[in-house]
Amino acid sequence: MIIYKTQEEIEIIRENCLLVGKTLGLVASLIKPGVSGLEIDKKAEEFIRDHGAVPGFKGYNGFPATLCVSPNQCVVHGIPGDKVFEDGDIVSVDCGVYNNDYFGDAAYTFALGDVDEKKMELLRVTNTSLYKGIEMAVIGGRLGDIGWAIQDYTEKQHAYGVVRELVGHGLGRNLHEKPEVPNYGRRGRGAQLKEGLVIAIEPMINLGTKSVRSSRDGWTIETADKLISAHYEHTIAITKTGPDILSSHDYVVDAIKNNVEIKEVSIKK
Ligand code: MG
Ligand code: MG
Repeated sequence: MIIYKTQEEIEIIRENCLLVGKTLGLVASLIKPGVSGLEIDKKAEEFIRDHGAVPGFKGYNGFPATLCVSPNQCVVHGIPGDKVFEDGDIVSVDCGVYNNDYFGDAAYTFALGDVDEKKMELLRVTNTSLYKGIEMAVIGGRLGDIGWAIQDYTEKQHAYGVVRELVGHGLGRNLHEKPEVPNYGRRGRGAQLKEGLVIAIEPMINLGTKSVRSSRDGWTIETADKLISAHYEHTIAITKTGPDILSSHDYVVDAIKNNVEIKEVSIKK
């Protein structure tokens, strides 16, 4: 069952998503070669708790950390560890918070140091595909329109692999609610998009094969061919005036400008 949200509920989710955005901004100011996921995770948890909220992922189905930190061939759900990042790494950081009975969720993939152009292009295309999906999130549209827009742009136009096993999701009192929001699909198919629907749209796009596998830690999802994977996510609400992006990458973009050790990931025209 899809649970549609009132404007009041949407405002609570927006507040949580804003804290997620600020936390990702903090991550953007700290992440660089020589730093570990664990160090960043600690700071992120402190930051969230200092703001009176609770990390949304920690303890969720037993996940042990505040952030999902997924470098290079890791697609999502990486557990932050003490291995330090290296020059040329790309690192997906996913963050959730819980406060006032609701969740907030967003993710961003960072480019550390001298990332080669082929990898940068995957990041730009994946980031851009997020907004192609969001554009389709309008009343009267269908869920399939969102997945179609992301798949058409990343797979058809750029020949990347669209992960099938992992999808976006409804969000509210639970981190993962109905409906599932795949990053592939057919135009005009699937559930009708209605006012009050709050969903996390999160393209997970691979440089090579779309195939993924779980790693031995039981959490991390990796690409089957070990080529890199990118991941960008916003939580949005469907409103009378169009898609309302509740989360924010603005804090990330600002922090990247002041962190010379990471590269900006621009959105393509
Ligand atoms: Mg997320
Ligand atoms: Mg999510």
